[in-house]
Amino acid sequence: MKPEETLVHVSSLPVGEVLPAFEEEFGRSLTDLFSQMVRMGPYPKSITAPPGAICFLARDGVEKRLCVLSSGAKESPFFQEAEGHASTAAAGGDTYQVKVCELTHANALTLRKHIPFLRPRTAGLEKSIGLGDRLGLATPGHARAVAGTGVTPFFAQQSIREMERTHRTPDEVMDCASFGTLQEGFRAGFGSDADHLKQPEHIDYTAAAGFTMFTVDPGDHVDSDSDSDDDAALMKKYEGLPWSDLEISAADCRKLYVGRPMPGGIEAFGEKHLLRAAAKYGKAVAHTVKMYRHARTVMRRRPFELEMSVDETATPTTVYEHFYVAAELRRLGVRWVSLAPRFVGEFEKGVDYIGDIDYFRTEFEKHAAVMKALGPYKISVHSGSDKFAVYPVAAELADNLVHVKTAGTSYLEALRAISMIDPPLFREILAFAKERYPEDRATYHVSAEAERVPDPNDLKDADLPGLFEPDRIDAREVMHVTFGSVLTTKKPDGGWLFYDRFMAALRGDEEKYYGVLESHLGKHVAPFAD
Ligand code: ZN
Repeated sequence: MKPEETLVHVSSLPVGEVLPAFEEEFGRSLTDLFSQMVRMGPYPKSITAPPGAICFLARDGVEKRLCVLSSGAKESPFFQEAEGHASTAAAGGDTYQVKVCELTHANALTLRKHIPFLRPRTAGLEKSIGLGDRLGLATPGHARAVAGTGVTPFFAQQSIREMERTHRTPDEVMDCASFGTLQEGFRAGFGSDADHLKQPEHIDYTAAAGFTMFTVDPGDHVDSDSDSDDDAALMKKYEGLPWSDLEISAADCRKLYVGRPMPGGIEAFGEKHLLRAAAKYGKAVAHTVKMYRHARTVMRRRPFELEMSVDETATPTTVYEHFYVAAELRRLGVRWVSLAPRFVGEFEKGVDYIGDIDYFRTEFEKHAAVMKALGPYKISVHSGSDKFAVYPVAAELADNLVHVKTAGTSYLEALRAISMIDPPLFREILAFAKERYPEDRATYHVSAEAERVPDPNDLKDADLPGLFEPDRIDAREVMHVTFGSVLTTKKPDGGWLFYDRFMAALRGDEEKYYGVLESHLGKHVAPFAD
């Protein structure tokens, strides 16, 4: 079949089906034909045939457009609903209707409505990785990093805190994921994680944008002081738990746990274990149950998955505490797909594990035993970027029942790309980041000191990318936690300090950004790959 015949062929197909990806050579000749018709450069992998039409993303200078073609032989709902500038174009002696559309929210909704692989899906127990993208440009690079590995990506993932810091909405996060997925023609499906939700209204806000995973963070209800409380204080806290919310009495809860055997050769549950676990996590369990029930009401028949995360608390989660939390959630009818304990050692942002990896291994093995006994569910590793020492341990001991969450590392890769694309801009950003760091570090778990980061003016262009090497902890952390200030600070005249130049540099040389993402995130995925 010749490329121009494809259009006629597509129009006569039964409505309701999206054609599989075009094979490579044929796709290339289609790309040539389409570039003549729309006078823009189509992204070859984006060519997709929703019912009755063909669509693709194309590059027009540094802007991107959604192009939709229809032979007009049959009405295509997709063509009708796409909002854009309509015209006609000739190919192979026939005339076709063409719509050139902006990448708006309305067009993202139309794409998701008609093309299933552009809608997020639940991942269940598939091994998976969260790939937060604070800029909305990273999905094609993320797709390349996971392609063919058997690891399910979460292209749409952002916490409420990050959305506030970057002035983004859940719709924007979702739309960027869909457009990026189309551009790269990634058809294996992706997940979407509304991360670190603390209040029921956070579920409403993100469910409305189509998110399918809710990560409940009951950290505000965790009592980390319980770790060092004496017996009397623990007893008092235990008696004072919200027992009606927990739907059990203090006495019955004691009967349920004290003396209960533990999996993995771990000593049985003692009274002290229960008092400490309940005092520390009892209110967090009650809050998680409330959030889960709210999610069920909001989602009704729509499939969703829930993660419970306590990774951002002050002290590590012991294996008894993990057991208590999981057993209580089960007793209260919560269905969850993953659980993120706070592990031993330090999980600082953007750098490798800090601590004794053998001790981590011993503790992780116990957590994995509890997970297998009370689940299975996935063990979720938050602040998961750049934890290269941890991945092989997690993959082995949890039998790949793992979800790894990354976000800031993709922002760091954007800066790495900018250090190569536009060294003067990068120097300005680094100098600003050093200045902002003392204030911006406050809500993050980091140990870098700005004074230990070199003055950018002392570095040659060729040395700038070296600041991103894994052992440059100070430079990495200083740049990591200042993303909000870098992306949202304005000049006295109201213009952006960096945002527009930052995005223009990446858009101008997007292959550079995709290349560093593929390489860096690829290293994260490799230990879990098929
Ligand atoms: Zn987290």
